Amino acid sequence: MSDDSKLRAYLFTVEIDGIETARFQKCEGLEAETYVYEVEEGGLNHNTRKFRGRTRFPNLILEKGITENDSLFNWFKETCLENKKLERKNGSVALKDTEGNEVKRWNFFRAFPCRWIGPKLVTNLGSDFAVERIGIAHEGVEVDNDLAEVSYGIATPVGKTWNDAQYVTSVWGKRNSFIVDNGEKTLSGHNGMDFAAPQGTRINAVKSGTVSKVENDEKNIHGYGKYIVITHEDGTSTLYAHQSKIIVYEGETVEAGEKIGEVGKTGKVTGPHLHLGYDGNKNGKFTNSEQLDDPAKLLYSDGN
Ligand SMILES: [Zn+2]
Repeated sequence: MSDDSKLRAYLFTVEIDGIETARFQKCEGLEAETYVYEVEEGGLNHNTRKFRGRTRFPNLILEKGITENDSLFNWFKETCLENKKLERKNGSVALKDTEGNEVKRWNFFRAFPCRWIGPKLVTNLGSDFAVERIGIAHEGVEVDNDLAEVSYGIATPVGKTWNDAQYVTSVWGKRNSFIVDNGEKTLSGHNGMDFAAPQGTRINAVKSGTVSKVENDEKNIHGYGKYIVITHEDGTSTLYAHQSKIIVYEGETVEAGEKIGEVGKTGKVTGPHLHLGYDGNKNGKFTNSEQLDDPAKLLYSDGN
């Protein structure tokens, strides 16, 4: 049941030469492995030396698909069944969410279909072909995602360059909002940094890590609106609030500078901006400012 809903939640579409040809519920093989070989060198007897060999790309395996037009099937038929010619093509696999928004794209090169498993392969060779499984051999795959500016492993939180992140409208600890408690008006601290940017500006992972939370509720109790949390390898985490659009999913690994969403004004805000939170104390809590840290410590560190 949970597996089923997962399959329904995301969809892989296959484009050949820029034209969408099919949709699949599952995709495997978006990986690369570089062969490492060892040499036992004379004169150095206590360990071996390692060298980088060639990079190997496993076949793409697409499962449970529906063809949009004939071109994917014809390509397979001509290559595998009719043994006509080996027609290599470039293409891409795009991951889309339930609303049809593109989440991620991988490009593959010099590819040809090498395997097809369909329920009625022999009797039905026409269009509207229900695809069970297709294997595509290729000579390279790359993530179509240009990274934003990164220095010392830390990326600009908004836009493409650090210049785009210069409009800091609220810094850590600055008292910028009122809290009314028992009829008494007090000032509250600010547990992050605000970067003003136009609606739709790209938001980047400031540091590599794994997406540990995705909250799509615009009116959640924290006032963060649509936000995500990325947990980094050292146990610290960063939070990206008030987004208009989130393009990553829980469990996904992200690189520093990779686009994770877009600037918006969801939650408790007066205008579009990114609120960046930083948990340098490894608490994983973003509701209590006392347990958080100043994001500037992370952003403007020189890697030491
Ligand atoms: Zn803020």
